[in-house]
Amino acid sequence: MSSSAKNPGKLWCKINVCGQNYEVRLVDKDDTKDIDGCEGLTIHTKNMIYIKDNLAPDRQDDTFIHEVLVHALLEASGASHVLREHLKITEEQWEHFEELLARLYSPALLSLLKTSNLIKLPEKPESVVREMGLKQKAAKRKKNK
Ligand SMILES: [Zn+2]
Repeated sequence: MSSSAKNPGKLWCKINVCGQNYEVRLVDKDDTKDIDGCEGLTIHTKNMIYIKDNLAPDRQDDTFIHEVLVHALLEASGASHVLREHLKITEEQWEHFEELLARLYSPALLSLLKTSNLIKLPEKPESVVREMGLKQKAAKRKKNK
């Protein structure tokens, strides 16, 4: 059995974070209940990042930065452990702090990356873009009924 068979949603890209290969996947709540109630999710033990597939493109980019450059990078680099030790806080307190940091930091990072043209966010595969377009049209039709 191929490993992709059990992975939910569609592959956006693969990304190397401090030597760890992460898969970034676009998912909806029918693909996995894990995404229910959030826009993105990083599962460190699986090197997996889920991003909700029906967000506005800019929001998807923001979520990408939030998950990759904050959650995945802090964990994979070891920075989360060092900072937690240094701050002498519990795992739960750290998780709360990390989330606040992510919310504060990712819009600034996204804006910097987009306006400076230093780095381009990974393109979504053609098939994914097409399918998302069809989904949005279907959602609009449903809404207009
Ligand atoms: Zn977060």
